[in-house]
Amino acid sequence: MSKTIGKCTCGSLEFACEGDPINSVFCYCSSCQQLTNADKWFGLWYPKGNMKLLKGEPLVFTRKGASGKNMEHLFCGDCGTTIAAFCEAGDFYSVAASCLKNGRELLPNMLIYTSQAVSWAQFPSDIPKFDILPPGMGKA
Ligand SMILES: [Zn+2]
Ligand SMILES: [Zn+2]
Repeated sequence: MSKTIGKCTCGSLEFACEGDPINSVFCYCSSCQQLTNADKWFGLWYPKGNMKLLKGEPLVFTRKGASGKNMEHLFCGDCGTTIAAFCEAGDFYSVAASCLKNGRELLPNMLIYTSQAVSWAQFPSDIPKFDILPPGMGKA
């Protein structure tokens, strides 16, 4: 299985994602805005078992997602970079594209939570756009 390597800004944390992501999203929700201090979070979704830490021990910040279930943010205690958020409702990690080695080449499949987007948000054209999530996907 192919592996994609990622790390935080300072390199204390290293991780590997196995196989292809199940989804690739720009999330415009208000929590992601605060997390990034930007208009969106670019997350690659990997099933729980496909994201493995190789080096370091992340700190964890847990918040409630829209579903009422936990979102666990994994971040580096040295540089503060959030490398991923574990979505309990979907049993997947939303891995920070910016931390992945091939992050610059990645593109989103969909735009989610655009109903919460800031007024200056930029939406790429030709990519499916959802007020919250695609029908049938539940709540993150
Ligand atoms: Zn770090
Ligand atoms: Zn979000």
